Amino acid sequence: MVLSNFEANLKKYVHLIAKIGVGVKPGHIVSINSQIDQAKLTRLLVKELYALGAAEVLVNWKDDSVSRETYLHANEKRLTHIPESTVQKFQEFINEKVSRISIDSSDPAAFEGVDNERISKHLAASNAASADYSAAIQANKMNWTVVAAASYGWATKVFPHLSTKEEQLDALWDQIFKTTRIYEEDPIKAWQDHDKKLCKQTKKLNDAQFDALHYTAPGTDLVIGLPKNHYWEGASSMNSKGEVFIANMPTEEVFTAPDTNRVDGYVSSTKPLSYAGVVISGMKFTFKNGKAIEFSAKQGEEVIQKLLATDEGASHLGEVALVPDLSPISRSGLTFFNTLFDENASNHLAFGQAYATSIVGGEKLSQDELKKRGLNRSTIHVDFMVGSENMDIDGISSDGSRTPIFRNGDWT
Ligand code: ZN
Ligand code: ZN
Repeated sequence: MVLSNFEANLKKYVHLIAKIGVGVKPGHIVSINSQIDQAKLTRLLVKELYALGAAEVLVNWKDDSVSRETYLHANEKRLTHIPESTVQKFQEFINEKVSRISIDSSDPAAFEGVDNERISKHLAASNAASADYSAAIQANKMNWTVVAAASYGWATKVFPHLSTKEEQLDALWDQIFKTTRIYEEDPIKAWQDHDKKLCKQTKKLNDAQFDALHYTAPGTDLVIGLPKNHYWEGASSMNSKGEVFIANMPTEEVFTAPDTNRVDGYVSSTKPLSYAGVVISGMKFTFKNGKAIEFSAKQGEEVIQKLLATDEGASHLGEVALVPDLSPISRSGLTFFNTLFDENASNHLAFGQAYATSIVGGEKLSQDELKKRGLNRSTIHVDFMVGSENMDIDGISSDGSRTPIFRNGDWT
């Protein structure tokens, strides 16, 4: 590590994640999902959370190389066996309102070459086991945040032109610090200002209450219906007690949910996507009445096929997010092969579960009621990037009138 002031910046980063990322308050229980190669960051984070009053911090260690061995060699039946204790653990997490910090550092191609059928089976089983907890998180019943940490495997993918592994790792940390505003004099204040800026955009969109959005770009001509009383969110979120947290760091997006049955036309991806340890690129989807009825991909098509077949909601959209093409992440000109970064450099959509908070009062509704109101339900939520400097978006009001929202990839 030769990045200057790395130790000091890592401490600032940890403080930011604890204080306003997960927004820990005295008495909160916090769980951290982390890879074992992020032990240093994770240990600092545990200390910081306790210093800020956490009642307990739980760490769930993961290791991609162990997962890879499991996917390659575990007995077929064991792959889909989820112990009862795991299901119970997630139930306890709901009862005790356990906040969640996910530290994302995986090699985007960690499971390249593994039989995707086996990965899909395992993911479907484990997603089903944690489905209630995921739904509670997505309804902001507890605080949660997704943050990044640099690993050698990931850094090599983003900076293949740099000659040493150390340089690659430094370059990725540098981007993480830059995009999470750690180099600012007061990162907390910088985030509060950023939040205000995004809130201005969400206010305009919430007031407009468009009936639909019309996307046009090379390879894209798509109309996305929006549910009645849909709610645009940006940067900060609020739990049921009114406590504030920031679900993604970095974040540049404002988002809401589409009407699960009113998406028609076609859309092309503009950045690769890493899902289940495989890189997928060159995707094109055709929608009819909300369902993706046709799709193709230059790379990873079979992964998409299995993903969309996970459950009924998996082939419908659950998120529509707007990000200007000139966001700070996009200006870096890099492809991160990591959704947390790439989705914040580009307009994006997601297959699967919609956030309950995407309609006014949605956090109080049952899964069935949310579905009736047009919010897609699924055990998956996978974002893909569609924005570019060539993208125009119009808002269509219920009287049919059109308002330009995006021109050439940027807010009008
Ligand atoms: Zn998003
Ligand atoms: Zn998303």
